[in-house]
Amino acid sequence: MRVLVTGAAGCLGSHAVERLLEQGHEVLALDNLATGNWANLPEHPQLTRLEQDACEPIRIDGPVDRVMHMASPASPKDFTRIPFEVLRVNSVGTWNCLEFAAEKGARFLFASTSEVYGDPAVSPQPESYWGNVNPNGVRSVYDESKRFGESVTMTFRRHRGVETRIVRYFNSFGPRMRLDDGRVVPTFVRQALLGEPLTVEGDGQQTRSFGYVDDSVRGTLLLLESGEPDPVNMGAEHEMTVLELAETVIRLIRSSSGIVFVPGAPDDPKQRRPDLTRARTILGYEAEVGVEEGLRRTIAWARGVLGLG
Ligand code: UDP
Repeated sequence: MRVLVTGAAGCLGSHAVERLLEQGHEVLALDNLATGNWANLPEHPQLTRLEQDACEPIRIDGPVDRVMHMASPASPKDFTRIPFEVLRVNSVGTWNCLEFAAEKGARFLFASTSEVYGDPAVSPQPESYWGNVNPNGVRSVYDESKRFGESVTMTFRRHRGVETRIVRYFNSFGPRMRLDDGRVVPTFVRQALLGEPLTVEGDGQQTRSFGYVDDSVRGTLLLLESGEPDPVNMGAEHEMTVLELAETVIRLIRSSSGIVFVPGAPDDPKQRRPDLTRARTILGYEAEVGVEEGLRRTIAWARGVLGLG
């Protein structure tokens, strides 16, 4: 197949591209490099780089079979640093990519997020939960634009006949995250490797469930080739507090770093854990890489990036 991947130079996108190339597909890798880096992608005869914004009209000659819209800044730090870019790529960008998919008769996948559940009042979160989102707070640029992205995706399905898929990622992590992107895993790994104190926000009792990128991408491609039109959660069910994550990273690195508590972010979700029943029953998906193994692989990669051997 010929597959267009937006956000292809980012962490999730580049891992998806690699997997698609391994499967023998031709990949059109689109990215505006707002947060991505072409160095994340291999040189490959079946790979074409397209440097452009996913919000601008897409012109590609010939057939395209799949469109995977994975472009979006995803760090809460980006929600205040580049808020308009976040709003646009998930709203205008999703609409634009859907128009392109409609033109080509391609199947479309939207990379959505656990953030559609906001600060969830139920746990774990099943796809049927409508969420608890502050519609105009600082996080809303991401949460509400992803929710709009899901809506426009389903509307193209219902009214324009586009075959669509929606995947909701829960805290994906792994090699090729930007070590300075502000998210908790790259931040703690960098701090622990450099012997700096780990900055735990709030009391550290808020929870997350971290999904290793290879698992998230494998599940995504299973979903893409399934017949499932409704949203599917993706990630891993193991839930831990942010403080536990800090202690785990320090232990795995045998770091001399301590922990400092710093003010928490506004509207920070207090708990997050996917209900993966649908992924399991519909896709036969199971997370294979546990959080500690995923952290080990991420740490090994980060050592290289930081020149620590
Ligand atoms: N966090 C932290 N220290 C940091 C960065 C993040 O304690 O240096 C916390 C943050 O407050 C949140 C959790 O880690 O409770 C996950 O944050 P992240 O930015 O990775 O993603 P989120 O799940 O909030 O989208």
